Amino acid sequence: MRGAWKIGSIAGIAVQVHWTFLILLAWVALAYGAEGGPAAALRGALLISLLFATVVAHELGHALAARRFGVRTLDITLLPIGGVARLERFPEGAVPGLVIALAGPLVSGVIATVLLGGALLLEGPLVLLPGPGTPLLVQLGLANLLLCLFNLLPAFPMDGGRALRAALVAFVGPLMATRYAAAVGRVMAAMFGVVGLMSNPFLVLIALFVWLQGAAEEQAALVRHALRGRTVADALVRDVRVLAADALVGDAAHDLQHGLQQEFPVLVDGRLAGVVGQADLVRALAAGRGDAPVAEVMRRDVAPLPLGLPLSRAYERLQLAAAAELRSLPVVDQGELVGLLGLDTVTSLMAVEAAAAVARPRAGRDPLDAAALRAA
Ligand SMILES: [Zn+2]
Repeated sequence: MRGAWKIGSIAGIAVQVHWTFLILLAWVALAYGAEGGPAAALRGALLISLLFATVVAHELGHALAARRFGVRTLDITLLPIGGVARLERFPEGAVPGLVIALAGPLVSGVIATVLLGGALLLEGPLVLLPGPGTPLLVQLGLANLLLCLFNLLPAFPMDGGRALRAALVAFVGPLMATRYAAAVGRVMAAMFGVVGLMSNPFLVLIALFVWLQGAAEEQAALVRHALRGRTVADALVRDVRVLAADALVGDAAHDLQHGLQQEFPVLVDGRLAGVVGQADLVRALAAGRGDAPVAEVMRRDVAPLPLGLPLSRAYERLQLAAAAELRSLPVVDQGELVGLLGLDTVTSLMAVEAAAAVARPRAGRDPLDAAALRAA
């Protein structure tokens, strides 16, 4: 995520904090400081820091639950409106969906129970009354209780909404489950927006997040539906130009100008050693390295796509690659390079599929069927 700094990693997952989070920290410290002086300001900053440590624990709940279903978490980011665990994908199935969605609120609930239960046992019920003397850990416990309950609201893609979606999958399938959950999410977002405008600006931000992210995930569900049953092999370009490791950057740039291909697999002894893309070549040329071998500027960390991978999964990988300036990825079968899969190819395939879905009920036949078109 842009504008986020990595502050460490837990269980192999990078934890980063977005710069806007510092505004929140300063804002709370100032608000506390204005009322109670420097000591109160420090206390406010400490409370927010502790609160966000427990938010990280909440996100880790999601991440570790996801890991049990074989899903990697790319990173955890702290934003002023809360934390986000970015999973490489969210499982379609009802059971993994429910477990992953509910693991976060469960962690918050446990933290709240321990802190508030401990305070009750040690100090008696009066300690829970809000007031200037409320202990820091009680405030933290109450905040976690709120975090647990608020996240359970069915505002897809918040946790409660994801759980709702997962439960619906069992009845109406993944596509309609997402569409219903997103519709409920939009109603919730509208409510957050109205309440937020009257009371709390953060709620307005959350409303925006729910609305926009919900729409994006609904779109992704439509994509998965359009690509269902297809694999990488269905959109593979087999006839691709490959480079030897000692090919020169300048020559590769020449190939770039005179072909449609923007990424080139680099082979060493007939095996895929890396990929060099348009952006890599342009950067190397700009640095005056036209005479360098491509092996020096290629990317070695590009994981190739297996030929049998579902196309919807490949599409997600392509979108991540596009964010890193690669618009196609190498495809391997039994360790051998067999071609490239391009983001644009998959996008066109989806456009054709969408057109077919619209035209099919109208024309009563498959518009992709060329023979039928000629006969018409
Ligand atoms: Zn959560």
